[in-house]
Amino acid sequence: MDDCIFCRIVSGDLESDLIYEDDDLVAFRDLNPQAPTHVLLIPRRHVSTVNDLGYADAELIGRLVLAGQRLASEEGIAEEGYRLVLNCNREAGQSVFHLHLHLLGGRRMKWPPG
Ligand code: 5GP
Ligand code: ZN
Repeated sequence: MDDCIFCRIVSGDLESDLIYEDDDLVAFRDLNPQAPTHVLLIPRRHVSTVNDLGYADAELIGRLVLAGQRLASEEGIAEEGYRLVLNCNREAGQSVFHLHLHLLGGRRMKWPPG
């Protein structure tokens, strides 16, 4: 996936502010943060959208959420609160088509989202 910017971040071809990685996941700070903490957690493997997930990915998604939980704690926002967001396709505002979980926190969030 040479044309996918997040695959390029995974491979190290594109620089990022990496804060966590393991065999399956990578987490880095968003280039254009929407909150004091704005981290993106992604699978190393290219998956375009939530629509492309199957039951075989259940553990992967579970681990993505648990990594988000752990990073929220490390960022010091676990107790005050944070948001984990998966945008799927254009109407939800997905702009990078490599699945990513947003971890947002450090300010009061609005509901409903815009
Ligand atoms: P989406 O809109 O697809 O849910 O979220 C994509 C996110 O990726 C956006 O918040 C955007 O700021 C971020 N982003 C886009 N390109 C880059 C990049 O090259 N590096 C980093 N760190 N974040 C990026
Ligand atoms: Zn990709």
